[in-house]
Amino acid sequence: MAQIILVRGDITEQHADAIVNAANSSLLGGGGVDGAVHRRGGPEILTECRALRASRYGKGLPTGQAVATTAGRLDAAHVIHTVGPVHSTSEDRSELLASCYRESLRVAAELGARTVAFPAISTGIYGWPIDDGARIAIATVRECAAEPVTEVRFVLFDEAAYAAFEAALETSA
Ligand code: ADP
Repeated sequence: MAQIILVRGDITEQHADAIVNAANSSLLGGGGVDGAVHRRGGPEILTECRALRASRYGKGLPTGQAVATTAGRLDAAHVIHTVGPVHSTSEDRSELLASCYRESLRVAAELGARTVAFPAISTGIYGWPIDDGARIAIATVRECAAEPVTEVRFVLFDEAAYAAFEAALETSA
């Protein structure tokens, strides 16, 4: 299993083989992590996203799936775009959130990435409670044998998110 590391910070400032973007299904940019990735990564990423829309994902990238593009000017070889589920109180969408982590790691492994940086998917605009989002993230990554990935780094934007991931890591150890 890959080593799990927690850091506080901005995911677009990370050096990693692959940086995961909490995208939306349009693949054409949005707020939060998505906005920051495109702003800092530059237009090359959007150009590839548009090409993916035109070729493979005419209806958008389905929730829970992941696809890679160049990382543009980011300090990474690849950006892996994944679409988290919007949190719902009437329906359990945990499996879709777990799928984002699993599929992103699968794509990362296919690309030969050794280090992968993740944000806390769905816990911003998509409204997932941070404690539960952290629990699902840690549990899923722990279950994934992701050769050749050796390091999974969660990049947490604020103290509350960092604390939630720390607690999830301790509980699942
Ligand atoms: P989603 O739409 O999947 O909820 P968001 O981008 O709105 O995605 O938020 C996901 C998580 O990422 C939230 O916890 C948010 O605080 C955090 N976040 C926002 N910007 C950044 C950033 N630049 N680097 C790392 N984490 C970020």
